[in-house]
Amino acid sequence: MKTRLLFLGPPGAGKGTQAARICDSNGMKHLSTGDLLRTEVAAKSELGQEAEAVMNRGELVSDKLVLAIVESQMKALSGEGWLLDGFPRTVPQAEALEPLLNELKQPIEAVVLLELDDAVLITRMLSRGRADDNEDVIRNRLEVYRDKTAPLISYYQNKGLLISVPAQGSVEEITGRITKVLG
Ligand code: AMP
Repeated sequence: MKTRLLFLGPPGAGKGTQAARICDSNGMKHLSTGDLLRTEVAAKSELGQEAEAVMNRGELVSDKLVLAIVESQMKALSGEGWLLDGFPRTVPQAEALEPLLNELKQPIEAVVLLELDDAVLITRMLSRGRADDNEDVIRNRLEVYRDKTAPLISYYQNKGLLISVPAQGSVEEITGRITKVLG
């Protein structure tokens, strides 16, 4: 089983739900930059205050800020596997991740792309009720995904790491598909 993973896919594809399930079953550390940022926002830390307005517009927080969070989290890992969920979100983030993982001697084993139609994504996001989940912001997040994040698909395809998984169906079905491709 591969245990050093990235989850890639549009907002609303179920990355967070699936990442939590895969990590629970396999003793891996779930690192969601969205969750880490929301924790900072709730704590009203300096970092959280810097990120909040950007997140509520559906834009991306600066690479520098996100990288600082990821770096401190990765360096604190103690040998278990990990799953990065929602990071990298841009090509510069992916390029910055490489030297960090080289230093830790922990290369990525697979990049799982969760694929789903826009219509389903929008319905799913509207049902979550998060602060950044109203319709205008959702459309903006999908556009940001296409512009800034989707280029990572060919980036990881070229490295021979990409595995696509259809993300429609029940939560259990999707977890089953992901587990199978990681075996
Ligand atoms: P998520 O929970 O992954 O949908 O992330 C929620 C929001 O947090 C995003 O819309 C961004 O504003 C911000 N965010 C999360 N991860 C990143 C990242 N890797 N780079 C920049 N912004 C991020």
